[in-house]
Amino acid sequence: MSRKSEAIQTASGRFLPLARGRKQPDAAGRPRSCSRFKWPSLRSQVCSKMTDVFQGSCLCRAVKYEIRSRSKALSHCHRGQCRKSHGAAFASYGSVLRGDLHLIRGADGIKSYRSSESVLRQFCAPCGSSLFWSRNQGEYSNWISIALGTLDTTFTSDKQKHIEVASKAPWYEIQDHWPQFQ
Ligand SMILES: [Zn+2]
Repeated sequence: MSRKSEAIQTASGRFLPLARGRKQPDAAGRPRSCSRFKWPSLRSQVCSKMTDVFQGSCLCRAVKYEIRSRSKALSHCHRGQCRKSHGAAFASYGSVLRGDLHLIRGADGIKSYRSSESVLRQFCAPCGSSLFWSRNQGEYSNWISIALGTLDTTFTSDKQKHIEVASKAPWYEIQDHWPQFQ
């Protein structure tokens, strides 16, 4: 896979081409420094947490991205803006540090919509797939939320929650066991 167009996101939501260097991860997403461990058991102990790599893409596949960490918690947001943005009962997001999101291709096709003063929603212009949600203020300004419906890699999470359920669509009933927050 060519990584010439690989980009990472700045706090302003712009994608900047990634400078290539010795510290770039290898094809499996592991930092290259992992290869210095000659014994496989030691290598897996030290590097196992770094091998969580998840790939995703938009509907038309113009945009392809990679997340190089495992999102710790998954939120199903029932807020009206998230419902509209997804055209669905709720939006499911997982958050990672901005630096862990690598755009493999398609930066040019990503459009941004500022749905409030501090919130940026990003989507693929040709096909309309919702991709990323981020806030440029506050304690989570260094994080980015990924619309998990766009993942191609199998992902599971045993820590999920419903948020903004006071705004829930009246035609949808939550029937799972995950905690709910107003
Ligand atoms: Zn697309």
